[in-house]
Amino acid sequence: MSAGTRGPGPFINRRLPSDTVKTAHETNEIFDKLDTQHPGADTELHFSTAFELLVATILSAQSTDALVNQVTPALFRRYPDATALARARTASLEKQIHSTGFFRAKSKALIGMAKALVARHDGEVPATMDALVDLPGVGRKTANVVLGHALGIPGLPVDRHVLRVANRIGLVESDDPIQVEQQLTSVLAPERWTRASDALILHGRRICRPKPLCDVCVIRDDCDYFATVVSRAREPRAAAPKRAQRKAPRASRSVRTSRR
Ligand code: SF4
Repeated sequence: MSAGTRGPGPFINRRLPSDTVKTAHETNEIFDKLDTQHPGADTELHFSTAFELLVATILSAQSTDALVNQVTPALFRRYPDATALARARTASLEKQIHSTGFFRAKSKALIGMAKALVARHDGEVPATMDALVDLPGVGRKTANVVLGHALGIPGLPVDRHVLRVANRIGLVESDDPIQVEQQLTSVLAPERWTRASDALILHGRRICRPKPLCDVCVIRDDCDYFATVVSRAREPRAAAPKRAQRKAPRASRSVRTSRR
């Protein structure tokens, strides 16, 4: 999963401002439809333990899941648990994760995270939001990924895709990931949180891209951005003046020419 971002980037194409967002009933119906477009939506990171998913999610910041999945098999063989990773040599670890980008910061975060797991949690990944975000390199999005996918505890990760897509549809109205998480979790049952995030992420990667593929989107009829921006842009312009009528009179054109 790529990292969540704030700022204007994800919102270049957002819907027009509105006083309302979808009701709880409408939101659940939209996720029912998204489930048909993305059946079995799940994280695309490969892992077999909570520790591995924590490592993979830290590596996925500013990277792609595919790139992370290329490096993690060898990484997990070399550092199968927190104790092994806590003893890693920085230069060696940096070399192994180099292709995922930001390798120096990630190496520092991974070793710091592993040392904290050993020191505070006997090497185990804690199963609470507070304890997870207290670990070096672990933010709320990463914690929700691990809680929801590896520990069976409801969590709704908000990344840049969730921010963009949920705002476009009209499910939420906020640029703040924490507010978006609160708005979505307030209208969805906890058992739906993680898969709802997975569906929005897949929808953002495959269909509702920065330049959206609305014609193949199953929720087009429910989407505020489609109604207020895309469909209006497709309407023929009413009463556009004919090209010939817009031409300036010959006399005035000769005046502009004479000023050069
Ligand atoms: S209709 Fe278009 S803008 Fe709306 S969710 Fe679908 S792809 Fe995105």
